Amino acid sequence: MKALVYQGPGQKDWIEKEKPGIEKPTDVIVRITRTTICGTDLHILKGDVPAVTPGRTLGHEGVGVVEAVGEAVANFKPGDAVLISCVTSCGRCANCKRQLYAHCDDGGWILGHKIDGTQAEYVRIPHGDISLYLLPEGVDEEALVMLSDIMPTGMEIGVQAGHVKPGDTIAIVGAGPVGMSVLLTAQFYSPGRIIMIDMDAARLELAQQFGATDLVQVGAEDVVARVLEMTGGRGVDVAIEAVGIPATFDICQKIVSAGGNIANVGVHGKPVQLHIEELWIKNINISMGLVCTNTTPMLIKTLQSGKVDPARLVTHRFALGEILQAYEVFGNAAREKAMKVILTA
Ligand code: NAD
Ligand code: ZN
Repeated sequence: MKALVYQGPGQKDWIEKEKPGIEKPTDVIVRITRTTICGTDLHILKGDVPAVTPGRTLGHEGVGVVEAVGEAVANFKPGDAVLISCVTSCGRCANCKRQLYAHCDDGGWILGHKIDGTQAEYVRIPHGDISLYLLPEGVDEEALVMLSDIMPTGMEIGVQAGHVKPGDTIAIVGAGPVGMSVLLTAQFYSPGRIIMIDMDAARLELAQQFGATDLVQVGAEDVVARVLEMTGGRGVDVAIEAVGIPATFDICQKIVSAGGNIANVGVHGKPVQLHIEELWIKNINISMGLVCTNTTPMLIKTLQSGKVDPARLVTHRFALGEILQAYEVFGNAAREKAMKVILTA
C-alpha cells in the first residue's frame, strides 16, 4: 500500500509500505476513504516531536471502511463505515476510567506518533471497539473528519476546560483550524461576545462568518490595549490560547479578567513565562492538556442535528495520491488561503 512516511526532520515521502495486519485480537484494520493534514503533522515534520521516529506513517484524522477485525472486536465488522479517533485507548485502565483516554496505560497512542497513522491506504487501529465510531447515516464525511481531532480539541481543551458560560466574553488567540473549532464549539454555550485574535486578515474574516463578534489583528493594533478597551478595562472571562508560542500565551495572561480562566490549547515547543505575580491577585485558573476525544459522541449528535457544520473549514480537496501537493498547500496556508485540506482515496 502507499503511505506518507516521515523520513527525519524536513523529509517525507509517499512510498510503498507493507499493508498493516491484525497484530492483537482487539485490532481493527481500516481502509482509509478520507484523511487530512493537521498543524501537528507540520510540527512533527520540523523535528519538534522527538517521539516520532523516521519510518512512521503520519496522520491522525480520518474516516474509512473496516477491512478486518481481530477476534476480540465486538462492535465492528468488515464493511462498516467508521470515524477514527486520533487517540487509541483500552477503556479499562485507571486513566481510561477517568476518561483520560490520551493517557491510557495500554496505548494512549496518538495515531501517527508512536504508531502508524491515517495518511495511508490502510491503518491499524488498536482497541478498535473504543477508538472507532460507526458513521451515522446522512452526515457529510468531510465534516466527520473534523471530529477525529480538531473539534474535540477545541471543545475539550478550549471551551470545557475554560468553563465558557452563557453571556461570557471570551477571546480566542489563533484562528487556525483548532482556534476555529474552539469558535464553533464555544457557541454551544452561548457566550455573549467572542473576540478572535490573529495576524491573518483573511482568517479573521472567516472567523467573523463563523460567529466571532469582534476581531483584533496582531501587528495592526496593540492587541492587549484593544481588548481592554473593548471590555471597559475589565478583560475577558475566558482567554483561549490556540497557537502554541510564548507571545500568544502572554496575551492571554494580560487580557484575562479577575476570576477568569486561561485555557491553553496550543502545543508549546518552548517554555512560556508564567506571570504568577500578576495572576494570583486576579484569582486566575489555568488549564492545558492533550485532547482525549471523549466529546466525540456528543459532537456526532451535533452534526446530525445540523447545529454545527465543520465541513465549512475545508478549503482544498485532493486525491490521496496527491498528498505531497496537499502538504505544499497546507504548509503555506497563509499564501494559499488554506484552512483544512481533505484527501479522498
Ligand atoms: P495553525 O498553525 O494552523 O494556526 C495557528 C494560527 O495562529 C494561525 O492562524 C496563525 O496566523 C496564528 N498566529 C501565529 N502567530 C500568531 C501571533 N503571534 N499572534 C496571533 N496569532 C498568531 O495551527 P492549528 O492547527 O490551528 O493548531 C493550533 C495549535 O493547537 C497548535 O499548536 C497545535 O499543535 C495545537 N493542538 C493542540 C492539541 C491538544 O491536544 N492540546 C490538539 C491539536 C492541535
Ligand atoms: Zn486505558
